[in-house]
Amino acid sequence: MDLNNSAQSGATQPQGQPQAQALPQADQTISVTQTVPVQNVVVPAQQPTSQTQANADKSEYLTQLHDSILSANIPQLVMVSISYALVMRSSDIHIEPLENHVRIRYRVDGVLMPIVEYPTNLHPAVVSRIKIMSNLKIDEQRIPQDGRADVTTKDGREMDLRVSTLPTVNGEKVVMRLQDKSRKIPDLPELGISGISLRHMEDALKLPNGIIINTGPTGSGKTTTLYSCLQRVNKIDVNILTIEDPVEIQIDGLNQSQVHHDIDYNFATGMRAALRQDPDIMMVGEIRDRETADTAIEASLTGHLVFSTLHTNSAVESLTRLTNMGIPPYLLSSSLELIIAQRLVRKLCDHCKKPAATNPELLEVVKKAMEKLHAEGEIDPKLVEGMQFYEATGCQKCNNIGYFGRIGLYEVFRMNNSIRKLLYDNASTLDILDQSQKDGMVTLEQAGIIKALQGITSLDEVYRVARKEE
Ligand SMILES: [Zn+2]
Repeated sequence: MDLNNSAQSGATQPQGQPQAQALPQADQTISVTQTVPVQNVVVPAQQPTSQTQANADKSEYLTQLHDSILSANIPQLVMVSISYALVMRSSDIHIEPLENHVRIRYRVDGVLMPIVEYPTNLHPAVVSRIKIMSNLKIDEQRIPQDGRADVTTKDGREMDLRVSTLPTVNGEKVVMRLQDKSRKIPDLPELGISGISLRHMEDALKLPNGIIINTGPTGSGKTTTLYSCLQRVNKIDVNILTIEDPVEIQIDGLNQSQVHHDIDYNFATGMRAALRQDPDIMMVGEIRDRETADTAIEASLTGHLVFSTLHTNSAVESLTRLTNMGIPPYLLSSSLELIIAQRLVRKLCDHCKKPAATNPELLEVVKKAMEKLHAEGEIDPKLVEGMQFYEATGCQKCNNIGYFGRIGLYEVFRMNNSIRKLLYDNASTLDILDQSQKDGMVTLEQAGIIKALQGITSLDEVYRVARKEE
């Protein structure tokens, strides 16, 4: 829907949308209250009672957005953009000045979708409004800025709004990240972990000491998985300390600390300080350097369970990364217990997914991957025999996207004696991968194929995030 010229002509109404009737004034529905140190913004939130109701609400939000553009009501435009993003389960709002107009897009389930466009002449006021909300400098338009605001929905959900501005050739681009601070942390099976991967994780969580690493690209859900693990070990008789950047969700019973790079409070110094706090279990945001890796190993060898993340593509590659950091194999094999690699895939919409024809070449790739699945009971053999996959079509319930929500693919590597021997022998990543698959490890690709055969996701999604095995 292009409303580019509608503010001038005032005539264009989006097709299929009802005429706006008795729209509430922005100030009546949305109150902006100032608090210290960040502003608290209250936005109306709707808990849809039924699907029809939800769709009606969505078109109501769109109508309000269009109306605020037509009437150049900037506060309403900004507030409705945020409320609508909440209703759409969006994680990020992108406001992008293009050459001839400004575009608002939402990231939903990891993918951007266009929402509305408005004329360029409104943009400076929109940016100023957002900057005031998040305590940024209005008159500074030449350099990027970061700020934040607290948003409270009417139903009491507390949202953290992180605002980032970036000067582009067409003006300032704004990205607002929405995070639900009061969201419940799902338990491991709800994240998509099952079978042998879940058993390995549950076993490792019972260990008194050792290192558990979670790896994957930014936005693959690592933090949620770690929080979910911490939730499991969060008992009254243990002291859990976390060093995070930033603390994303506060969990009752944990001592969570946030690093400050500008004053040299980083992961390594944080870990050392945490060790003096009589800990049982520790979580450090990321192992980026030798110093943090050394401290994590020291902590593990002195009787602590340590959780952390690494930036690698697969579980086994993490071993190579740590070796490249200069960690000797004997220290790795005596401290590292579990490596989780993960990706997020979109779930097919249950209401409109349909069986898909898979091309023979891809089918060969899939079969080859499944031949290397040694874990038993991971999937019904009939499903593997049938090789029936599903595809997205799109219906009203999924906003015509074909997908709704996301689920994790998990590859869980468990240390054992045969792997320890390979590490001592300086074996290649491929040899270690081979051995761990023989020991029953399910790879990201296999985990994805299993979820695709079960009709939870599509092969397109699986191969969007997981590599084909050579
Ligand atoms: Zn659908």
